This record gives sequence, C-alpha cells and structure tokens, in this order.
Amino acid sequence: MSITIGQIDEALQEWAPSGSAQSYDNVGLQIGRMTAEVTRCLIALDLTPDVVREAQEMNAECVITHHPLLFRPLKSLTDSGLVSSMALNLAESGIGLYAIHTNLDAARDGVSFELARTLGLERIEFLSRLEGSTVKLILFVPIDHIDGVRDAVFSRGAGKIGKYSECSFSHGGTATFKPGEGTKPFEGEASGPRESVNEIRLEVEVARWALPSVLDAAREAHPYEEMVHDIVAVEQDFRNAGIGAVGNLPAPIKLGVFLNEVCQKLENPGIRYAGNPDSTVQKVAVCGGAGADFIGLAHRVRADVYVTSDISYHRYFDVMGSGGDIEMALVDTGHYESERMTESLLVVWLRERFPEIEWIRTKHRTSPVQTWIAT
Ligand SMILES: [Zn+2]
Repeated sequence: MSITIGQIDEALQEWAPSGSAQSYDNVGLQIGRMTAEVTRCLIALDLTPDVVREAQEMNAECVITHHPLLFRPLKSLTDSGLVSSMALNLAESGIGLYAIHTNLDAARDGVSFELARTLGLERIEFLSRLEGSTVKLILFVPIDHIDGVRDAVFSRGAGKIGKYSECSFSHGGTATFKPGEGTKPFEGEASGPRESVNEIRLEVEVARWALPSVLDAAREAHPYEEMVHDIVAVEQDFRNAGIGAVGNLPAPIKLGVFLNEVCQKLENPGIRYAGNPDSTVQKVAVCGGAGADFIGLAHRVRADVYVTSDISYHRYFDVMGSGGDIEMALVDTGHYESERMTESLLVVWLRERFPEIEWIRTKHRTSPVQTWIAT
C-alpha cells in the first residue's frame, strides 16, 4: 500500500502538532504535494546542498528536516542564493520538503527528551509546560446524541490527559429554549412555546491549537441549529507539550566528569561552560537548540547544571550569585550537537509507524560550525 506525505503528516501531528510550534516558526510541508507518494525519505537536521544531492542520488521522494528551509519570505525562486536554489532544485526533482521544528521541540519525547536520554538522565519531565495551551470545552447535548458528539470530539484529539486519551466527564440536566421565528428547533416548532430537553453536560480538555477542529467536529455531530457550548480558560497547561526537559543522573558525579560525558555522548571535541568542575551534579536540565532564554526556568527547578546551546556571553552572569560563585553550572554544547540525535529519533519513530517506507538518516554533518583544537 502506498503512503503519501499527507499520511506521514497526519501521524506526526499526533506527536508534535503544528499548532504547538512557536508563532515565529514555519513548520509542515514546505515544498511538494501532500498527495505525493513516498517510498524513500531522507532525514536531516538541516537542508544543505549535500543533503539535496544525497536525496537526488537515492531517488528519495521526500526530505524531512528539523530546521525549516523556508523561514523568511523568498522574493524569487531561482538558482541564485542558497535557500532559493535548494528550494528550486528540490521542486525540479519532484522531492518534497517537510519541516518539524519547534513543534518537535515542544513534544513529549521530542528533541529535548531525546537530548536528556542521550545524556543518561532518568525520570525525565518537561522543564516547563507550554503556557496557556489548554482550554476546557463544555458541550450541552441532547441525551440520545451524546455518544455521537463524544466520539466526534475524541476523534479530533479532545480529552487527552498525559498518556490517557478519550477522557471526559458528563452529567445530566434539563435545558430549556423557546424557538424564535424562522428557526428549525430540535424540539417543537418555530415561534412555538418554550421547550425543555434532557441534556448531558459534556466536559473535555482540549489543546488550544486543536480547538477549531474539535468545534467543527462537534458542530457536525450536534443536532442543534445553535450548538450550546462554553470554552473556559483553565490554569493548567497541556501535559504533552512543553519546553526543555529535566531529569536526574543515576548517581551524583563531579561536574568535570559530566562535562567529559557530554563531549563524548554528543560527539563534541570541546564545549563552553561556567561552573566548578569539582562541584557535584545530579539534577540536569536540558534544552535542545538555542535555549538561553530558559536559564531562569532551569534555575527555578534547582537544576545543578543546564545544558543547551547558543548561550551569549552576558547570559553566563545570570547564574552568578552575589559573591561571584556559580549557582548553577551552564553548558553550551553547540546548536548542532545538542540536536543531532533528532535525526535518529525521527528515523526510529517513523520506521515504527511506516515500516514499508525506507527511512534514511543523512550521512552528512550539516553544521558548518567546527571546533578548532590548538595543535
Ligand atoms: Zn535548532
């Protein structure tokens, strides 16, 4: 049976919904058609000319990257300029390009969870959940239509709480309404007297980004001309989307030993850090990619060390106490090194769901950044 890019997208949406991506981001299908069939797909952190050539040589129909190629609007699609020429090249070769970026950063078992696992952390959780990401949807449904409406909202992802799905709460009551002129009421007739109906009040949690689709499905299954519902803001955040990850090393170790492990496990010849190599670390916060903005979050959960990338000079002072001591060690592993395991993460995840497709990790190191070791 042939699989399309659209079907791959549908599966990925379950894990890392586009709606959970940062507002500045550009994720999903960037080049090609959702209806295109895929038998071979190349996975890379970044799109580079080497990766484009690799995809062409292996006759892949699709490339999935973590970092989006098309980020800023293109003014032309020609063979001049790196981004434009690669986009043209892929389109001419009939190769689709799909990006899964900050939505995979935000996903449970996504980029940061994988970084945490690579570093040997245990009991991994989000460093912080995605704020304002959940709403409570309350629907009022006539009793004999409740199953249809419940199934409809579940089918669009409502009612997910952690690893549980199809979670809801309901109880019965009496509703009243008086149909106005020109209405098509569920009970009674237009301009008729007040009616009363036995209804069920159905409550489900919904991720904010799934709400439009859940409401569409509910409207389709609900028998009323005017669907009665409330959308209520809740304080708790969606449990399956967040920022970074935090966990524990199996036993406390010296920071210096940990730094060596970071270098070895992330295949990094050298890393920048702040901290005392003789201090002890066990609780480790991480964020794949540029995570300097979350230093405060890591500090707040009392991590002993925070591993991320793209930390600028002045941010290192954020972890310095009034006496000049480093209160939480900071490690910059390099952007590529903190995310490279995303390639194998995607290959393994996709191979499990679509074994009929050949999933191939690029053989290229896509980062142009290198570390010079003095000779
Ligand atoms: Zn990144």
